[in-house]
Amino acid sequence: FGPGKTARSPGTEQGIPIVKLHILIFAFLILGACSSASPPQARDKKLKIVATTGMIADAAKHVAGDRAKVSALMGPGVDPHLFKASRSEIVLLTQADIIFYNGLFLEGKLIDALTRIAASGKKVFAVTEKIDRQYLLEPPEFAGHYDPHVWMDPPAWAKVVEFIRDRLADIAPENAHTFANNAAHYLEQLDQLNRYAEQVLQTVPGEKRIIITAHDAFNYFGRRYSFRVRGIQGISTESEAGIQDIENIVSLIVSAKIPAVFVESTVSERNIRALIEGAAARGQEVSIGAQLYSDAMGKPGTYRGTYIGMLDHNITSIARALGGTAPETGMHGKLGEGD
Ligand code: ZN
Repeated sequence: FGPGKTARSPGTEQGIPIVKLHILIFAFLILGACSSASPPQARDKKLKIVATTGMIADAAKHVAGDRAKVSALMGPGVDPHLFKASRSEIVLLTQADIIFYNGLFLEGKLIDALTRIAASGKKVFAVTEKIDRQYLLEPPEFAGHYDPHVWMDPPAWAKVVEFIRDRLADIAPENAHTFANNAAHYLEQLDQLNRYAEQVLQTVPGEKRIIITAHDAFNYFGRRYSFRVRGIQGISTESEAGIQDIENIVSLIVSAKIPAVFVESTVSERNIRALIEGAAARGQEVSIGAQLYSDAMGKPGTYRGTYIGMLDHNITSIARALGGTAPETGMHGKLGEGD
């Protein structure tokens, strides 16, 4: 299993029917229960952690350090709103000691499987569980649900890191001190990331502070750093953008003279192209600022394949495309060519 292997194009139907899924989960839980009874050297055994998104896996890796083996279910370019687990991914989930998922309906098509696995007694946690509900956004277009894209706000993500630290300490109290030290170190890096974002994003002129993307992944980012945010497709990539939505955003681009709009690594560029053509027809030239990482990180093993690298890329790209000042190579000089 490698993170790259799970990549699929959004919308393909690779999931398995619920009934079959149910039986599969049941079978693997029995297998898992038998195999986990044996090891006498449990204290030296590494925890097996499975996270749904790369961002959660990255946080868990930083906190757990060498005390766990962490896998991410979804690799680069995978859209969590549409993700369905394959047979081998269900096996991976049922063999984990701990499962961390985002929650807030980010993984809309995985909730059924996660609920069944949790009902069997396995430790399954939504990492956003302890974030104050007052803090969460409830956009009107997603009536009755909270916006799940909390990783776009580093101080909110720090709460997630603390949550993971506390759950790991509950499960492996003998390593609590290590988890606390690792978490403190990572939280310091998140704080540094937030300070960099504040510094470079405030250089974007007021009238240009609008982030237009394919779907609404940037609401928390916009609230934190004072940008208006417009996603063509709404909160989930499941909804289709209408011609009227595109017309409305074209009008906004033309009236505010927005210099750039952004594409996303997990969402089709089709609607963004329609915007650019619409604006051009009305005499406003608008370019594609950069491909932003919205719901998944870059390739494993690269800087953009980490949470901090992903956010650094987004922050730096947004600042530069909208007329602000930021170093071309980002916060640490690590944003080189490519991804
Ligand atoms: Zn999203």
